[in-house]
Amino acid sequence: MQELVILAPAKINLTLDVKGKRPDGYHELETIMHQISLADVVRLRRRPKGIKVVTDSSLIPVDENNLAWRAAAEFFDVIGNRGGASIYIEKRIPVGAGLAGGSTDAAAVIKGLNTMYECNLEKNEMLEIGARIGSDVPFCIQGGTVLARGRGEQMTPLHLARPLSLVLVYPGFSVSTREVYQGLADREILVRPDNRGVGEGLERGQLELVCRGMANVLETVTIDWHPEIADIKQRMMGTGAVKALMSGSGPTVFGVFRSQEAAVQTCDIIRNHYQEVFTALSWRG
Ligand code: ATP
Repeated sequence: MQELVILAPAKINLTLDVKGKRPDGYHELETIMHQISLADVVRLRRRPKGIKVVTDSSLIPVDENNLAWRAAAEFFDVIGNRGGASIYIEKRIPVGAGLAGGSTDAAAVIKGLNTMYECNLEKNEMLEIGARIGSDVPFCIQGGTVLARGRGEQMTPLHLARPLSLVLVYPGFSVSTREVYQGLADREILVRPDNRGVGEGLERGQLELVCRGMANVLETVTIDWHPEIADIKQRMMGTGAVKALMSGSGPTVFGVFRSQEAAVQTCDIIRNHYQEVFTALSWRG
């Protein structure tokens, strides 16, 4: 196969809990990660050797600092440098938004090169390559919805009885994930998610149960620095969201709605107030 086009879906965190700091410096997480229909387009083409990244975005690097570039390098390392790749990234996921845009591109490259070069790497081998690139990459390779523990690598897949209808608001600035986690260190965590309740709600298709248990312990840290995140949540709730929450370390806020019609209506109402507003559904890869 000479060429392959893959969709690389964004993720949101339906819950995010931090259980403490590990001896290796990483945080012990418990988070429900959920892929959505907002996706980058990644086009791969074979080259005899070398890695080349091209993108339509001015916001991401095209050298070895691009996570997709690093994913290809790690992949070729594992298979014994039997080739190269051109990677074209059509960026649709906002950058530095808490939506794992870089990680999903990296995951798409690992899965895509495995297919294109007919390597038949097992999923576990691809997960291992992914873990070397970033904490969110194994989830992006696994896909769907999972309860993730540890650094995010211990994953329990969750079956979804029905897709979620969502609105996403990206307010137009980035936050540093590292600084947000550092900011959490000096705080007492007052509200934690109910991961079990959210998991059960998703598996039974009970939206109220899902929304009741949703929380993100990083939210108060990012909101202190960027109060507009609280305004977006309030606006979403005012236009019919059952729940609105920040994803990851932010700043993107997502709202969960009872129907796709309700999500589209809200999108129309708030579209002009923020840099980027999308509707999305749960990813059905
Ligand atoms: P996460 O949710 O995993 O914390 P994020 O969505 O907040 O990630 P990304 O969009 O992945 O953030 O971007 C974070 C940084 O990674 C940016 O500074 C960006 O320049 C860099 N980066 C490297 N490669 C990519 C890529 N392929 N797509 C997006 N960002 C990339």
